Amino acid sequence: METKGKIHSFETFGTVDGPGIRFIVFMKGCPLKCKYCHNRDTWSAEDARLYTAEEVMREIRKYRNFIASSKGGVTVSGGEALIQPQFVLELFKRCREEGIHTAVDTSGYVNAEAVKEVMKYTDLVLLDLKHANAVKHKELTGVDNNKIKLFTQYLCDINKPVWIRYVLIPGYTDDEADLKAARDYLKNFKNIEKIEVLPYHSTGKIKWENLKAEYPLEGVPAPTKEQVMRAWGILSGTAES
Ligand code: SF4
Repeated sequence: METKGKIHSFETFGTVDGPGIRFIVFMKGCPLKCKYCHNRDTWSAEDARLYTAEEVMREIRKYRNFIASSKGGVTVSGGEALIQPQFVLELFKRCREEGIHTAVDTSGYVNAEAVKEVMKYTDLVLLDLKHANAVKHKELTGVDNNKIKLFTQYLCDINKPVWIRYVLIPGYTDDEADLKAARDYLKNFKNIEKIEVLPYHSTGKIKWENLKAEYPLEGVPAPTKEQVMRAWGILSGTAES
């Protein structure tokens, strides 16, 4: 019997979650509780829509021409997509059969052993680096970063292409010493192809309010363009230290 994925929604013309135009599958359920989460409504899997991989492929095939002409592909996101490894495996096997590029957008808070098979069919991992400081990581996300570090090392061991994503939040993730610690940590991984700094924004706040949950970053501003460029310079090692 085919596995059913617990799905929140689809986005048909994604342009920021991997190369080209992406069909994005937002999965339900997440073990983290990031204070800045802009997909707060994906945390619980209770009200998920259930799809088999073949049912999702039928949706993807409608956009095949756009995907192919832009050198795009399929990205699974969330929530945390890799807590449903069997479903992602079945979906990505089909994508591979049909020549469609595959990417996973993940917090990295997964057991490498449980996703080994999925990684064989994954072309690119979009991996969050939430915080370099272990204590601040726990405060920001609700979990410690040991598991994430092990998974990051595993991706390096199998030489999997990775794009790092760092959300810049004024007062939370923009401390210079923390950025330098993150830069030094990232230097260990030769499989990192790109580092992206994503400016924090509060557009997801409405989802917290709809769930009657208190928004933890009330009043925190978005970073300026200059702050984003500065952080990127440090993380990528191009800024003077
Ligand atoms: S890992 Fe992503 S979906 Fe989960 S809480 Fe953090 S930001 Fe939200």
